[in-house]
This record gives sequence, C-alpha cells and structure tokens, in this order.
Amino acid sequence: MSNYNTNKNNCAKYRPDKEYTQLEMFLDNLPYILMAIIGIAININIFKFSILGIVFSFVYIAYCTIGVIWIMIFVCPYCQYFNTNYCPCGYGQITAKFREKSPEHKFSEKFKKHIPVIIPLWIIPLIEGLIFLILDYNLTLMILVIAFTINSFIILPLLARIYGCGHCPQKSDCPWMI
Ligand code: SF4
Repeated sequence: MSNYNTNKNNCAKYRPDKEYTQLEMFLDNLPYILMAIIGIAININIFKFSILGIVFSFVYIAYCTIGVIWIMIFVCPYCQYFNTNYCPCGYGQITAKFREKSPEHKFSEKFKKHIPVIIPLWIIPLIEGLIFLILDYNLTLMILVIAFTINSFIILPLLARIYGCGHCPQKSDCPWMI
C-alpha cells in the first residue's frame, strides 16, 4: 500500500505484522455492532415494545451509524492507515472512496476533537438502563445492561487496544492510547 509508512518496528507484539483480511475487519467491528444491537434491545425493553421504544431505537442506531461516518470523514483521512489494509476495521479503505488523504501530523489533534462526538453512544443506553432498573426493574433489562457494560466497556476497548491500536505506529500520538 502506497501510503503505509513502514514504521512496523515496534509492535508485532500483539498480532502478526500483516494486512487485515475482510474477516478480521468484520471481527474488529463486531463489538461495536453488538453495542448497537444491545443498545436497541435496552430501549425496546425499557419502553416495552411501544412506538416510543422503536423511535428511541431508531435514533440510537442512526447515531451509531452517523458516529462511524463522522470518524471516517473527520479522523481517518489523517491516519497513517488511510486507504490501506493495515486499518483493523476497514474504515480507512471506505473513507478513501470519498475523501482525500490529509496531513498525518494532524491526526492527534483531529482524534481529540472528534472522538467526543461518539462518546455518548457508550453512555446513553447505560444511563437509560440504570434509571429504569431503579424505576421498573426486570431481569431481562438487568441482563442487557450487564451485557452492554461488558461488551462496550471491557471487550470493545480491550480488543481495540490489543488487536488494532496496540500495533498502530501512531499510538504514541493517540489520545485514546494515552
Ligand atoms: S486505523 Fe482508525 S483512524 Fe486509522 S483509518 Fe482505520 S479507523 Fe481510521
């Protein structure tokens, strides 16, 4: 890949030093997809399959989708992995279809500025779930909240750090890793 800077020296520690396959990219996206699905299930449970629950679920899934597109537009063009198979989740290749490469030295600045846009995706279903566990407890909701917490706050960040970001040559500039 033409724009992949060969700074591969520092991290074969976490995974083989190779380009990601489509399957590996899908697996990397799986916890985010699961977060969206469990977030929807929490809303459906809280609002007991009512129109309100469906509306909130649509809003949440729309926010998840916009969050991905937002990162693709405003962060990925500045990434060293832009338009390469070294991007663990495949966003870098998709972004290259509609955005030009941008200066890599601005990556950290862009990351810091735009990551807060997606942080509420981790917070909203959890807060909703906790509030309704207090107001209107049911076992299914308890299981969903626990599953959401384990997936979104343990599996997703752990996978990112050891599977994708752990290998990234930009990790010393990345606020997420710091
Ligand atoms: S590694 Fe991250 S920032 Fe870089 S192109 Fe892939 S998703 Fe975007």
